[in-house]
Amino acid sequence: MLELINKNGVSYFRSTVLQSKHGFSTRIGGFSTLEHTRSLNLAFGRGDDEATVLKNIGAFADAVAVDASKIISVPQVHGSEVRRVTMCDAGAGVYKNADFECDGYITADYGLPIAVKTADCVPILLEGRDNEGNVVAVCAVHAGWRGTAAKIAANAVNKLCQLGVKTDNIYVAVGACIDVCCYEVEIDFANEIKNKLGQYYENKFIIKRENGSLYADLKGMNLEILTSCGVPRENIDVSHNCTCCESELFYSHRGQKGKRGAMMSLISM
Ligand SMILES: [Zn+2]
Repeated sequence: MLELINKNGVSYFRSTVLQSKHGFSTRIGGFSTLEHTRSLNLAFGRGDDEATVLKNIGAFADAVAVDASKIISVPQVHGSEVRRVTMCDAGAGVYKNADFECDGYITADYGLPIAVKTADCVPILLEGRDNEGNVVAVCAVHAGWRGTAAKIAANAVNKLCQLGVKTDNIYVAVGACIDVCCYEVEIDFANEIKNKLGQYYENKFIIKRENGSLYADLKGMNLEILTSCGVPRENIDVSHNCTCCESELFYSHRGQKGKRGAMMSLISM
């Protein structure tokens, strides 16, 4: 279950299936005053000055109890790479310039927070445990429709398995994104899903309404990808929130017609 937590005025979601320090931010509890970024915008380049974004990141990091200066969150490119990062990369994309771009991270380093930014795309946080139940690695993934179609979630599971984690010992939380109620797509999108993920995904996750319009279920696709990798369904938490419907709580790229802030989804061992 994803629970809405309020800490020092910062509202964020926490999953009951994850042991690690983590949080899915909302737009509540920050210092941004622009109408479209109010108030907890956690991304640069959305209209807020850099100092405000850093102040917001500091407030979110404090609420989740991680070290803000170490957060890694580099520019995202709608790719499928899940990159191994270490303490050498601490602060990349936030407090120091990043010399790489990617949409997913894995780390086995304690105290190293990794974070993805979203505003409609699907944020996914994963942890891998050993047989005694100790967390041995964590992942953060940004899955837009391209990343979803390229199975970035499966890449994260595979990376955890390469570190010796069994799929039974992988735990996952899928955060709020634009849901099937609001995510209208074109026929080209449906064809792309069929080409990349197969007919089964198109049939199951592209919903045709009576008037012929098409809607896509990105959460459902990622859940299917995770379970088909062998992650037990009971190990996976899926948000019931829609970023586009709930404009008080979330930024939405579609709902705000591109002029919006961004949430951050963060995890740290
Ligand atoms: Zn909706």
